[in-house]
Amino acid sequence: MKRRSFLKTTAAGGAIAASATGTAVAQAPAAPAVSTGRLEWRMVTSWPKGLPGVGTGAEKLAQNITQMSGGRLTVRVFAAGELVPALQCFDAVSNGTAEMGHDASYYHLSKSEGQAFFTAFPFGLSAGELTGWVHHGGGQALWDEMNAPFNVKAFLAGNTGCQMLGWFRREINTVDDLKGLKFRTPGNQAKILTRLGASVVQLPGGEIFPALQSGAIDGAEWIGPLNDLALGFHQVAKFYYSPGYHEPGAGLQLMVNKQRYDALPADLKAIVAVAAQAAHDDMYAEYTAKSGAALQTLVQQHGVQLRTLPRDVLVACGQQANNILVELMDGRDEVTKKIISGYLAYRNAVIPWTRVAEQAYFTSRLLPFPHGRRA
Ligand code: CA
Repeated sequence: MKRRSFLKTTAAGGAIAASATGTAVAQAPAAPAVSTGRLEWRMVTSWPKGLPGVGTGAEKLAQNITQMSGGRLTVRVFAAGELVPALQCFDAVSNGTAEMGHDASYYHLSKSEGQAFFTAFPFGLSAGELTGWVHHGGGQALWDEMNAPFNVKAFLAGNTGCQMLGWFRREINTVDDLKGLKFRTPGNQAKILTRLGASVVQLPGGEIFPALQSGAIDGAEWIGPLNDLALGFHQVAKFYYSPGYHEPGAGLQLMVNKQRYDALPADLKAIVAVAAQAAHDDMYAEYTAKSGAALQTLVQQHGVQLRTLPRDVLVACGQQANNILVELMDGRDEVTKKIISGYLAYRNAVIPWTRVAEQAYFTSRLLPFPHGRRA
């Protein structure tokens, strides 16, 4: 900025006086370089207050945006139900009730079936693969295209890593064991289990334990050991199943009201985007670091029994996932079809790599080397 225009601007605010030599002397803190406006934004979330991982991750994200902007963009977080119900964050951000929201995009399939692919699709991308798709594989552009008509801009802002399939009171040995089961799960997993005869409900996290306790549901999936231990599901159901094929690396999102985001100066836009990316990395790291210890606590202190879903049941679930994809591709939602095409093209390109890289390595790590054994 030229000195002339700087003086003209600041003199109008009374912050600068000219000395006898013509040098500007500050009588109050200098104005920020980009914008003098201070914004106070609300971030609604789908999470119970203080819940480790997703909940505390959203709170850290808000703190980071506030601190990195020097308070020019101050973000206040609301837990589920404090400002809007847990599953209505998308609407709240879209219509401006809140400027920001943090939840999982697959809570909003009623807006577009394409929302599923930015959280998780059954037998789809792992956490690392999903991040690669969104940031370097064309995913973000498709996400933006889907959300623009709703006045929403979304960023990846968290990942739970691979989830657990969930909690069951009885063992699941055959596909028939799913029939009549009253189970909590959202997204396309709800459709898969419904097609296999289960009776599925989509409850927010904070409502799962009371529903299990009252017998309103027989079982539930939520996230994994870290959160499931905190919410106490082991007190009501003892069989804890994997693999979490339905959410092999569930992404969480930061939603921003697009009109408000577009109006931000460039530096605040960058702060929001980079803070979201940092939140993503930090949350994934937290789940990776803490889930093992939580799992041990569940098994060793609470008598939880780990089970693996039998192959026949997995195949039946995979077939239904495939049917859902085929039906969506035959449907009328053009953006969803575009998203699925992009997602599958990326999946087909990335899996030949992850198969010979991480998958081969994870298998090799099971060999009986002394490395890592207890002394
Ligand atoms: Ca889940």
